[in-house]
Amino acid sequence: MTDSLPPQAQDGHDAWERIRARLRAELGEATFASWLAPLDLVEIDGDQVTLGVGTRFLRDWIASHYAHRIAALWAAERPQIQSARIAIHAGQPLAGEDELHTASQPPPARPRGSAGARAHDGVLADLGSPLNGRFTFREFVVGETNELAHAAAQQVAGIDHLPFNPLYLYGGVGLGKTHLLHAIAWCIRGREPGRRVLYLSAERFMYQFIQAIRQKDTVAFKERLRSADVLLIDDIQFICDKESTQEEFLHTLNALLDHRCQVVVSGDRSPSRLDGMEERLKSRLAGGLAVDIMPANYVLRLGILREKAGPLGIADAPREVMEFLARQITSNVRELEMALHRIAAHAALLGGAITLETTQSVLRDVLIAKERRITIEEIQRRVAAHYNINPAELSSSRRAQVVVRPRHVAMYLAKQLTSRSLPEIGRKFGKRDHTTVMYAIRRIEELRPKDPALDEDVEQLRRSLEDPND
Ligand code: ADP
Ligand code: MG
Repeated sequence: MTDSLPPQAQDGHDAWERIRARLRAELGEATFASWLAPLDLVEIDGDQVTLGVGTRFLRDWIASHYAHRIAALWAAERPQIQSARIAIHAGQPLAGEDELHTASQPPPARPRGSAGARAHDGVLADLGSPLNGRFTFREFVVGETNELAHAAAQQVAGIDHLPFNPLYLYGGVGLGKTHLLHAIAWCIRGREPGRRVLYLSAERFMYQFIQAIRQKDTVAFKERLRSADVLLIDDIQFICDKESTQEEFLHTLNALLDHRCQVVVSGDRSPSRLDGMEERLKSRLAGGLAVDIMPANYVLRLGILREKAGPLGIADAPREVMEFLARQITSNVRELEMALHRIAAHAALLGGAITLETTQSVLRDVLIAKERRITIEEIQRRVAAHYNINPAELSSSRRAQVVVRPRHVAMYLAKQLTSRSLPEIGRKFGKRDHTTVMYAIRRIEELRPKDPALDEDVEQLRRSLEDPND
């Protein structure tokens, strides 16, 4: 096959194969298969190598995430190469794709099942599940842990060309899978009202299917499903071990994919780990693009809190409260939302300012799990080790500066990282009064901005306490 290539390109191909192998080893099979496998060597021209890929989306993604590494690997193979250009393959014009990033957002919340929202679905209306008006792209906060899933969802929603089919989004509970599926549906409905978008949970799919069997009406069921232009199926793991539903779903999937209809599926784990799912279905699900949503990191949690505080009327909640929540509630976004709702409800009902104290008391039960991980004793041990003193000295009555500063730091961290009250903390530090604890906290708060060394000590301690592997 390479016989017809010019000699220079030909040996470029050998280099490219080696680079591909390196990238595959570095990034892992899944990432490589999703993003870099489609990349072809187009030409080497002087100090620049050009690689081509079929869609603008992939081009942009590779250019912003991998081009640097690719260029470095090329430079190692061919010292004259200075840069790597990622291009869209000639002959694959992608009409409409340019509109992706400026594509108008879906309409604001519409009441569930209102005539306006569903009229165009005609026969599909009663088959699908209702869409949540809040679950739009506009309300989805993007961060490191979900940007890939978000980008892929936008891509699928933004154009009629099919970038990947099916798109499979997976991740743990409460991380935004349903939100993204609904956002895709809103976006397409808003832009192209004529396109038939069908969203339903796998559970509903099964229920409808069983109904159809009972009513001896499976032909109509199949036809209605297959008349969708875009099919979004949520929580596919629900049909694990449900053999006949899987069989039916596989037929639907094959029919839609054959007709180049976009299919998006969500699940709680990667296709290969869907135990109790038929192999053919697993490989169909993995055959497009599979992207995972990871638990939100601290920065994203804080971003989501800030974004959601406004509509709840608590945008003026102090920064320390937001930071406290972002640090404490790490499990998923739904939990974060629930915490904010409770704080907002508390503030609205009882009035008064939102403080770290009120937050901790309102969320006491939520924080208990966390407490198990970071105890005051643990904090004392770490702080003592950090400052090279005996932990017992933190609870002693000694007032020498070498123990006073660490004691203040430990009390401050106890307040920040546990939901213990001031009197409880005081008790753990040699039965001190809560006003002493309060003083210690204020002292550290005052000093941190002025004393970079102290600030760093506190940060380092906090991080080591919060990281269970540390
Ligand atoms: P899943 O389907 O993965 O279990 P959901 O999509 O139902 O999770 O999300 C749970 C809640 O968290 C929803 O209220 C959703 O709006 C919200 N949520 C999740 N991720 C985000 C995000 N990145 N930005 C804003 N809200 C989010
Ligand atoms: Mg869901």
